[in-house]
Amino acid sequence: MRIIEDFQLKGQNTFGLDIKAKYYAEISKIDEIKELYSSYSSSPIMILGGGSNILFSKDYDGLMIKNLIKGIKKVYENEDIVLIEAGAGEVWEDFVQYTVDNNWGGLENLSLIPGTVGASPIQNIGAYGTEIKDVFEELKGYNLETGEVSAFSLAQCRFGYRDSVFKRELKGKFVVTSVTYRLCKNPQIDIKYEALRSELEKLGIESPTVKQVSEIVCNIRRSKLPDPKIVGNAGSFFKNPEISDSHYQKLLSLHNDIPGYKTGNNTIKVPAGWLIQKCGWRGKRLGNVGVYDKQALVLVNYGGADGNEIIKLSENIKESVKKEFDIWLETEVNIV
Ligand SMILES: Cc1cc2nc3c(=O)[nH]c(=O)nc-3n(C[C@H](O)[C@H](O)[C@H](O)COP(=O)(O)OP(=O)(O)OC[C@H]3O[C@@H](n4cnc5c(N)ncnc54)[C@H](O)[C@@H]3O)c2cc1C
Repeated sequence: MRIIEDFQLKGQNTFGLDIKAKYYAEISKIDEIKELYSSYSSSPIMILGGGSNILFSKDYDGLMIKNLIKGIKKVYENEDIVLIEAGAGEVWEDFVQYTVDNNWGGLENLSLIPGTVGASPIQNIGAYGTEIKDVFEELKGYNLETGEVSAFSLAQCRFGYRDSVFKRELKGKFVVTSVTYRLCKNPQIDIKYEALRSELEKLGIESPTVKQVSEIVCNIRRSKLPDPKIVGNAGSFFKNPEISDSHYQKLLSLHNDIPGYKTGNNTIKVPAGWLIQKCGWRGKRLGNVGVYDKQALVLVNYGGADGNEIIKLSENIKESVKKEFDIWLETEVNIV
């Protein structure tokens, strides 16, 4: 296995930031992680997938391990369901399209999300009313300290909104090596999500297939989100905040168009993009960075930006949302 020093990561992060890793290695087998860890255990170690949810503020002063563990296999099947295990280094969209081509339901709403299978449970990726926790069976993780591989059930992953145990207590402790999804052979299509439903109505599709839903999701995403190959970005920069019902009612009395979705007994989720837009940030450009004009939740690198310019912009946005709505936005992207 080759270890490269001062490796250029510009092509390995979707913000397109010009930064380097002190050491970089690509692994395609679990044994290779063991080998690397025994030689580099005193350096910081980080696992890299597609780099689509990371903002580097500086060069990485440690070992960056690119996970390329591949393979897709059926591990169980009955009349109704199929369990499919995919290697962590599989490209997420290739895996989703593999399940769609087989007409297995469950992942179609998550089409075209950049990144790898191994990162999908880290923040419990979600889109169009579905999160991976809805179809998750288990994952296998390599414990960097003990060198053992253990299975994690749904309950053990402690998934939340863009959250899991791997972003908290177990952050940096495990390398996800594979994830198994439970997919449906007689798919019940989930079209609760408004944008999806109205697109199906426009097309006159009453009983959509898994493939049709996937295609519509891809079309909506292409029309709304910037392609990182053209404009650097990491998708939604902030999480949608959850606030108390009383806080929401107070805001509603001041802004009668504020959207909100009930998430618990006394909690309302408010779209962060709406809050940012209301503060006048949508489409604003400051030097090399800016807020995407079609979706205020997305911060972009127009070229040549430093990670700190994006962080500064995000802080300014947070402060103005706090001032206007008394809400402190939480960052979704991992800042390193
Ligand atoms: C245009 C665009 C649209 C997006 N849309 C969505 C969306 O709709 N919904 C959504 O949820 N996200 C979205 N994202 C964010 C991103 O695509 C997902 O979070 C994705 O899962 C990140 O995968 P990755 O392989 O690129 O992970 P990376 O960015 O490489 O890594 C993210 C984090 O996971 C850790 N990690 C990665 N792989 C492993 C592993 N095998 N084991 C342990 N830790 C690991 C890394 O160390 C890092 O902390 C979008 C991003 C972009 C650029």
